[in-house]
Amino acid sequence: MTMALNETHAPELRSWVESANQPGSDFPIQNLPFGVFRRRSEGAQSAWHVGVAIGDAILDLHTVIDAGAFSAEPALAQQALKAAGGESLNALMALNVAAWSALRLSLSRSLRVGSPVQSTLQAALVAQKDVEFALPAQIGDYTDFYTSVHHATAIGKLFRPDQPLLPNYKWVPIGYHGRSSSIAVGPQQFRRPLGQTKPPEADAPVFGPSKRMDYEMEVGIFIGSGNAPGDAIALDQAEANVFGLCLLNDWSARDIQAWEYQPLGPFLAKNFASTISPWVVTLEALAPYRLAWSRDAADPQPLPYLDSAAMRESGAFDIELEVALQTSAMRQAAQPPQRLSLSNFRYSYWSVSQLVTHHTVGGCNLRPGDLLGSGTQSGPAPSEAGSLLELSAGGKQPIQLTNGESRTFLEDGDTVVMRAWAQRPGLARIGFGELSGTLLPARTA
Ligand code: MN
Repeated sequence: MTMALNETHAPELRSWVESANQPGSDFPIQNLPFGVFRRRSEGAQSAWHVGVAIGDAILDLHTVIDAGAFSAEPALAQQALKAAGGESLNALMALNVAAWSALRLSLSRSLRVGSPVQSTLQAALVAQKDVEFALPAQIGDYTDFYTSVHHATAIGKLFRPDQPLLPNYKWVPIGYHGRSSSIAVGPQQFRRPLGQTKPPEADAPVFGPSKRMDYEMEVGIFIGSGNAPGDAIALDQAEANVFGLCLLNDWSARDIQAWEYQPLGPFLAKNFASTISPWVVTLEALAPYRLAWSRDAADPQPLPYLDSAAMRESGAFDIELEVALQTSAMRQAAQPPQRLSLSNFRYSYWSVSQLVTHHTVGGCNLRPGDLLGSGTQSGPAPSEAGSLLELSAGGKQPIQLTNGESRTFLEDGDTVVMRAWAQRPGLARIGFGELSGTLLPARTA
């Protein structure tokens, strides 16, 4: 099921874009993630282009098409490049693994040291510092899952001390249909939401700004070609329907959530803003960083439609997930964001393929550009918690920051920065870039 390694993963590959060869770069030639950008100086009237990150630059695929630089490449790569010529990734996502892979191979060969098209492609390079980003795709539908059993248990203890983990959790991937209109690409700024909250001792709810604003460190899963209504995607076909992964911050108003969530789940607590990272890292780029998927022998094993030998062999991803916070005071003092947690996507209780298969098993159609959220990724250790609600034990234990400030929940002006990367001894390190978002004061009447 997992894509085999090929020449594009070779650790010794070097790019003629020198910054891509620097240790610690998120975007070496083994990565080649896709995004949508325009030069900041071009103004609001100019078109968005699809680009590929390489070092501290972007290869503008629109310019590559115009320059005819891929005329000697295989037809499948040319078809994929043409699909990437629009203002979003949807048309490329709607193709298939073979086309994505052909484009990746052509890009890899073209960006390598010694490439015959180097001088042509040089003109298609744009510095990342000079661009602004758009959403990588038009997101038709967004579904958020709940795949960290550590997060689900910790949150459950706070909301339902008597029954932290509900009996369905270990049998069915839990999720809800979310809101796509308020998903934006980072860096995003948004206002603290207003809503109904009810303090435990109060008789009636009050209306006002949320007092318990939180983030959720999640992995975003962009769907590729999808399925027809009424069809289902079998488990061993699921990853062929995933274009790639990004970072997702599912901002959450915990006090609004606590009052509204029963019986139908999150609503206004999560629909005001969600932020994703600009770059989508393809599953092919992530092929060297796969892990066996396993389920504790004491737990229920997945039902047959959610289980396969191939999924167990390599269904998990070894991706480090970091959350950092920069308060206004830190920003004013030119202090960098401070790390709050470090976890790993490997702890996910459900695999990406299980999420895709489960979503479609009843006949629901997924479409190119649909986004699935993994749910907050918390690991087993307290320092691996992917939300403030967990790190502060429901607001009871303030987190001390090195500059003397402390936090239970977010304060106005706080910027949350998420990063992720995959690395293995003897292999290139690839990164997801940075996802940042800033909480602004609530709207005043
Ligand atoms: Mn979430």
